[in-house]
Amino acid sequence: MRARARHRSRPDRHQAPRRQAPPLDRRSSRGPHRRGGRADLDPGQRTQHAQSHRRRSPLDGRPPSRTSHDLQRRLLIAQLLTVLQRRGVPIWTRTEVVDLIQEDGRVVGAVMQRDGRRLRVRAGEGVLIASGGFARNGDMRAKHSRDQPNDGQWTLANPGDSGELLQRAIERGAATDLMDEAWWVPALRKPDGTLAMVIQERARPGAIIVDPGGSRYFNEAGSSMEVGQHMYRRQRETGSGVPSWLIIDSRHRSRYLFAMMPPGFTPKKWLTSGAMKRAGTLAGLARDCGIDPDTLTATVERFNRFAVTGNDEDFGRGLSAHDRYMGDPTHASNPCLGPLTKPPFFAVQIFPGDVGTSGGLLCDEHSRVLDVHGDPIPGLYATGNATASVMGRAYPAGGASIGATCVFAYIAGEHAAAQKLR
Ligand SMILES: Cc1cc2nc3c(=O)[nH]c(=O)nc-3n(C[C@H](O)[C@H](O)[C@H](O)COP(=O)(O)OP(=O)(O)OC[C@H]3O[C@@H](n4cnc5c(N)ncnc54)[C@H](O)[C@@H]3O)c2cc1C
Repeated sequence: MRARARHRSRPDRHQAPRRQAPPLDRRSSRGPHRRGGRADLDPGQRTQHAQSHRRRSPLDGRPPSRTSHDLQRRLLIAQLLTVLQRRGVPIWTRTEVVDLIQEDGRVVGAVMQRDGRRLRVRAGEGVLIASGGFARNGDMRAKHSRDQPNDGQWTLANPGDSGELLQRAIERGAATDLMDEAWWVPALRKPDGTLAMVIQERARPGAIIVDPGGSRYFNEAGSSMEVGQHMYRRQRETGSGVPSWLIIDSRHRSRYLFAMMPPGFTPKKWLTSGAMKRAGTLAGLARDCGIDPDTLTATVERFNRFAVTGNDEDFGRGLSAHDRYMGDPTHASNPCLGPLTKPPFFAVQIFPGDVGTSGGLLCDEHSRVLDVHGDPIPGLYATGNATASVMGRAYPAGGASIGATCVFAYIAGEHAAAQKLR
């Protein structure tokens, strides 16, 4: 509370050298966290969260630390690694698969580059492509993005998401689908030029996203995938939408994390670099951003009326369980709706970022790669971002992409092993 009071009188006071940054998210420093629940989750989610912490690690039988979800992610990898080691499966790092080996139509191995040598490795039961998508391959993105102006410049995918192996499979007759699609996640540019995902920032009270004309055009609390799709649709239909602007008021900035900036703490470089705009009035902010001031002011006034009633008459923000999970559960009556009234106001540009492509090789229910005639290519399997997503153009919830990757790799292994036993 003290930090908030100081912020109210002078937003940049945090710049003083002796001032300590406030806790990461005000809500997480409250009582419920200490009692074993997370204040930012609703009661059902808290139960799930607590249960997940009570589970014991299959590796050492001890309960995992409650410090971070990052540990749980590492445990997933550690378990997979342990299984491979127990079974004596060799793991080659720093090894590039450069091509597939095909004999009489059947894929029987792969060509690899390792320690400066080219190796031909045979695989009796099959080859599983799990090399990710092509988010970092500018040529492939531009070729397949159709009318979406995207050559991968806004991707946050790993550097290895380069698509070469996907191309080798396509050259061997593999069919593809959804090549223009990606796991969209709206992104902003930080002062150093790198990208940051914008997830909960846009769903919380006191935030809206507008097109360059100053109008809202979708439910800001919807799934990240939908936001990217909305941005491109807007661009297609009106000629602008990429990028858009995320606008927040000071109450939002003083209460919530923003691109990992703690509440109430906005480093000067965000403003001096131009990564974030700040102005005392909405009209002033609009002028700084090149947005029509009258339209933005009217948009905010309309949104503020919805915030008072708790009913977003335009886009239904905060109605779904997904939206509410992303909002602020302490905010009545709609965890996603709050007015933008408290100056100064802030704005950042929002781009249709992504964490990988979600189109690729077309596979059947056994994870077998299909050819352009719809027949399986013998011996060739694929999973994950190398494939056209089993969920089509949707991202139902966090974990959906990693989950499908694991499931279809498992199915591929089962199928390949069963063929050998016949
Ligand atoms: C910042 C970020 C946050 C994310 N958050 C989530 C989340 O919360 N939930 C979720 O479900 N998903 C999330 N994802 C997406 C998720 O990480 C991917 O969907 C998933 O990792 C895809 O798995 P994959 O095995 O298909 O590909 P990858 O994990 O990309 O693995 C493919 C590997 O193959 C390597 N490779 C590529 N080509 C070759 C070659 N020719 N030879 C040898 N190796 C090669 C690559 O270097 C890479 O290491 C996130 C992604 C990012 C970037």
